[in-house]
Amino acid sequence: MCLFAIGIEPLIRMSHNTLQAGRATCNMFTIRAYADDVVILLRDEDECTKLPQILHTYSMASCAQINVQKSSLVPLGNWATTHTVNHIPIKRKAKILGLTVCASFKEMVDINWSITSARTRATMFQHIHRNLNLLERIWHINVFCLSKLWYLAQILPLSSKYSTVLDRAISFYVWKGYFYKLPKTQLHLPITKGGLQLTAIKEKSQALLTRNILRAKHDESAPMDNKFWQDHIPLLCSKTTTLPHSLKMIWEIIESYPPTTVTNEKNQNTKTIYTYFMKKAVQTPRIVEKLPNQKWGNIWRNLHMANIPTAWKTTVYCYLNQIIPTEEKRHRHNLTDSPACKKCGWLDTLKHRVTNCGAAKAIWEGAKALLVKVWPDSQLHDWFQTLLVLDSPTKQNKFVTVWLASGFLHYQLTKSLHKMEEFLHMLKEEAAKLEMKDDKSSQILKELKLLQLNSSLNLV
Ligand SMILES: [Zn+2]
Repeated sequence: MCLFAIGIEPLIRMSHNTLQAGRATCNMFTIRAYADDVVILLRDEDECTKLPQILHTYSMASCAQINVQKSSLVPLGNWATTHTVNHIPIKRKAKILGLTVCASFKEMVDINWSITSARTRATMFQHIHRNLNLLERIWHINVFCLSKLWYLAQILPLSSKYSTVLDRAISFYVWKGYFYKLPKTQLHLPITKGGLQLTAIKEKSQALLTRNILRAKHDESAPMDNKFWQDHIPLLCSKTTTLPHSLKMIWEIIESYPPTTVTNEKNQNTKTIYTYFMKKAVQTPRIVEKLPNQKWGNIWRNLHMANIPTAWKTTVYCYLNQIIPTEEKRHRHNLTDSPACKKCGWLDTLKHRVTNCGAAKAIWEGAKALLVKVWPDSQLHDWFQTLLVLDSPTKQNKFVTVWLASGFLHYQLTKSLHKMEEFLHMLKEEAAKLEMKDDKSSQILKELKLLQLNSSLNLV
């Protein structure tokens, strides 16, 4: 590799110096090399005549030959497709550093995004049969599935066509197996606001590209970039423009980005820009609008407390957002004839399922008794607030009350036969996992011991 770098360096230096010499503005893109790929950008016919000379001199000096079959020439924009250099074949498109470069910008945006979005969707569908819960699926999307998009997003604008395609695929993947869904705008919210921090593709792509353009726009050392914008703004804003709509959209976004923050270098990072775009699109979860008197800040924080299994969190998240298809809800939506519980005939609501339906009642009593163990002076209102709303009004033994409530709700809503032994066994198993954790804090263990899960089998 080192020898290769020494071998190719003279060609790069010579091309750069010779081609730059004839140009009015300095620092224009001329030549870049990555491993054994060399890319040269020629700007006029004069440069086309200079290039064969450069290549010839280099070949004579180094005894190296250009592999014509492996080289290609892509005429950009209005460039005549007949003009070639050293018999290098002319092509409509070529792959440069993972990016398909085409003659027209519009085509280039379309081709690259269609390839990348198809690959991203394929990755998601490969994993669709894995047994992941809602929270795990969102992690999987954020960390794994979408990672390939960001390289392209910082170079080319994402059109609404492909952002819709990707959003649909994500919604399908995330909500597979669910009857009721939440809007994607809620999933994009931070966890403290009732969302699940799913990355918003459109906003993140815009943020990445905006960051790059802002940096280029404010870079005094690169007159080319400034000149580019001065030349292209009127073109972008004109009605007859042939430039893609998405580029115009990006320009509007950059214009709308507050000028006071633009000049500050700190505000030019992707995270700040992304947060700014997300704040503009902020939305309140439906359930918060429906029940505004609950302390939602506390509830969301409790829900996402560390060391609680994600399966429990998933069930509780669906429970809190009321998207579990009870007979009563289905009846309201004209999906069933009767709102009655299929097991016992009562009105089938979430509260009924959790506290009152057949054997579930005994578990509710058992959970209350366990709660009293860790919180002896608690009252009826505290039990309801903790076990049914997840807003534990205590500061003492907070973790274990939330942990117990999550486990209780998960058990009640996912199991069809309710047995006290089974419920306690589930709690015991999870408690044992917590004890085995390396990052265990003694406070958690102390709180868990208060539950005395082993002896509580004889509790009720
Ligand atoms: Zn019932």
